[in-house]
Amino acid sequence: MGKWVRANYQPCLPLGDNQSRITASARHIKLSRQAAAEGSVLLKNQNDILPLKKGEKVVIFGKAQIDYVKGGGGSGDVSVSYVRNIYDGLKLKEGKIEVLDIPSLFYTNYVKSQYKAGNEKGCLEEPELPESIMNAAIAFTDTAIVTINRYSKEGFDRKNDECDTYYSLSDNEKKLINDVCDNFTHVIVLLNVGAMIDTSWLAGNDRIEAAIILWQGGMEGGLAAADILVGDVNPSGKLVDTCAKALCDYPSSEGFHESEDYVKYTEDIFVGYRYFETIPTKSDCVVYPFGYGLSYTTFDIFNIAAWDNGKKIFVTVDVKNTGKYAGKEVVQLYYSAPIGRLTKPAIELCAFAKTPMLEPDESCTLTLTYDVTDMASYDDIGIIEKSAYVMEKGSYRLMVGNSIRNTVCLDYFYELTQDLVVKKLTAYCVPKRLGKRMLADGSYMEVSDTEMDEKTFPCEYVSEYCGPKADTKDINSLEGYTFEYGEKEEKVYKLIDVAEGRITLDEFISQISNEEMIELLKGQNNTGVACTFGMGDLPKYGIPNIMTTDGPAGVRIKPWVEVHTTAFPIATALACTWNVDLLEEIGRAGAMEVKENNMQIWLTPALNIHRSPLCGRNFEYYSEDPLVSGKMAAAMVRGIQSQNIVATAKHLACNNKETNRRESDSIVSERALREIYLRGFEICVKESAPKVIMTAYNLVNGVRTSENAELITGILRGEWGYQGMVTTDWWNTAEHYKEVKAGNDIRMPVSDTNVLRNAIEKGLLTRNEMAICVKRILEMILWIE
Ligand code: BGC
Repeated sequence: MGKWVRANYQPCLPLGDNQSRITASARHIKLSRQAAAEGSVLLKNQNDILPLKKGEKVVIFGKAQIDYVKGGGGSGDVSVSYVRNIYDGLKLKEGKIEVLDIPSLFYTNYVKSQYKAGNEKGCLEEPELPESIMNAAIAFTDTAIVTINRYSKEGFDRKNDECDTYYSLSDNEKKLINDVCDNFTHVIVLLNVGAMIDTSWLAGNDRIEAAIILWQGGMEGGLAAADILVGDVNPSGKLVDTCAKALCDYPSSEGFHESEDYVKYTEDIFVGYRYFETIPTKSDCVVYPFGYGLSYTTFDIFNIAAWDNGKKIFVTVDVKNTGKYAGKEVVQLYYSAPIGRLTKPAIELCAFAKTPMLEPDESCTLTLTYDVTDMASYDDIGIIEKSAYVMEKGSYRLMVGNSIRNTVCLDYFYELTQDLVVKKLTAYCVPKRLGKRMLADGSYMEVSDTEMDEKTFPCEYVSEYCGPKADTKDINSLEGYTFEYGEKEEKVYKLIDVAEGRITLDEFISQISNEEMIELLKGQNNTGVACTFGMGDLPKYGIPNIMTTDGPAGVRIKPWVEVHTTAFPIATALACTWNVDLLEEIGRAGAMEVKENNMQIWLTPALNIHRSPLCGRNFEYYSEDPLVSGKMAAAMVRGIQSQNIVATAKHLACNNKETNRRESDSIVSERALREIYLRGFEICVKESAPKVIMTAYNLVNGVRTSENAELITGILRGEWGYQGMVTTDWWNTAEHYKEVKAGNDIRMPVSDTNVLRNAIEKGLLTRNEMAICVKRILEMILWIE
């Protein structure tokens, strides 16, 4: 097919076998179900109550069995033709088990009536079960499954008060759990949630024998849950967030709702396990640690060998399935840097790998590897060397295991006899009013207010990372061009002339007027099934209108279009698989759905950090840990871009709260910014080169991210060598001309064109600054097939 033919002219030609549609195909839905099961985490399994025995009779309690939440709301929602809930899923397993219908029918009617009354999915009150139904259940079996769900969405954060018991159980839920525990010998809990919730009540209750976090597993989530319950799938998911006893145990909780205008990240680098495993006494607050998850089988990790070649560290391990079921294991490698002068987490993840399916007695060898310099810390104070990544002298210890709390220490140490400055950088995005930041002993260091000048980047500096300036060669002097567009049409080169090598992109850009550039620097109208606007669309120059579409849990086509796609599990569930190959496959599958529907840019993946369980958009993000986030995002990008569909890594950076997100200032030390909040993006950029990065709505240290030249031009392009284009998030409140100057190439989905026009007239913006952004937009379009 010719260049951009699909984008310009084609109806949605099917991409599946024998002219069938690949969108929401059986193949993709099967993949979604597989991922949902693989991302589920088995938290407890006393007396090996799971998997359920053949012929076992079960009864299911809780409205969540019907009101199954497939994913969160907002732009991350996906329109599907059906969602399989937990009751439906277990019913499909009849033959292996028996399910009592009466309670489930009660919940079905309840949920229906609640939806009819306009109550929101996933937010219904837990109803009280009539005594007669409870008695029927007691008479039927002694095995009960209790379901609990939670929902959150873009634009809103959750709370944990009398009106919104998000983290804790509501009184009705507590009563249900107690009633079930009082009346059944075997109790299994299923959590259909989008982020961490309280698990202390189930961990500390011996009457609850088993529990699984299912997350929000997409359209086949209920069947995936049933796959695990009956043992068709052996769980291999591991937590990517720490489950703490109480919401207040997370250091972010204290200030989360303090102000709508700002969030102070005073816990600094001590986010998630970095806090719980480092700060004295805080390890007692952990219910289930990072990396934890059970299996129906057991594994031995042995034959551990480690070495380095000065640049990289290599660890090999053998993993043997020593139990009775086939299964997969996740091997996690952690390091501890020496205690020195810089405050540091006690332990950090540096690599991980997942085994293939191992039959009982089968083993395999895994190799885990990472760069020595990944163990460096960023010194933003100047204790070792100001504005530099440094490694302090001493022994770097390595631990390998299957959770952060279940590791063995390696005999091998990485030794440094003197402090090392790994990379000298420039201080960027320095906070002005942080006040204090946490140290490894749990105390706080005072930080005085600073008035740092925002750095300006002269045009030459900007273009150092963006190729040469658009040159101003006279278009008519170009040779070898055949004019094909009719006598009366203006003589112009089309973008296809660049694609086919007749002229350079700079030559092409030189014919575009300032007015036309202003057009290109903003979003364009939707075509076809797209709902989130396009980029390009300058017919005079043959620039196609390239459509965007949302994600990340599937391709979002708004419901009224009535095109259904595959809803995959939420990002957190995908991350809990620790299976980068699977994420790559999902990236590929999603990209094929994007392409089949004649769109070209997928606004996926999202990789902000799980800083607080209350952030309404946690479900769209991977983990509290930047390495997991970065590796997962990179795998998705590789999968997506393998189909010649553009991936968009979002939201750069610190969009960790939804309340007043367009105006809220994330105040964070430069070190925490680099080591925690940017690190995932850095890994993603360096390992997968996403064609687009989306800046966030919020401000970082007083500057809007899309206007933030230090962030975009200084760090993203300057330090990481990012070559792609940058878009704003949709409908932000920033100033367009400042965005262009900062290197944020396009303003989506619309812009008041007078802003750029006036900025040029007033000398605040130059043609060259616009040309640099235009060039990056066109490079992205040229990459599309
Ligand atoms: C979200 C983005 C999304 C965009 C387009 C914004 O509200 O923050 O993640 O891609 O809308 O729908």
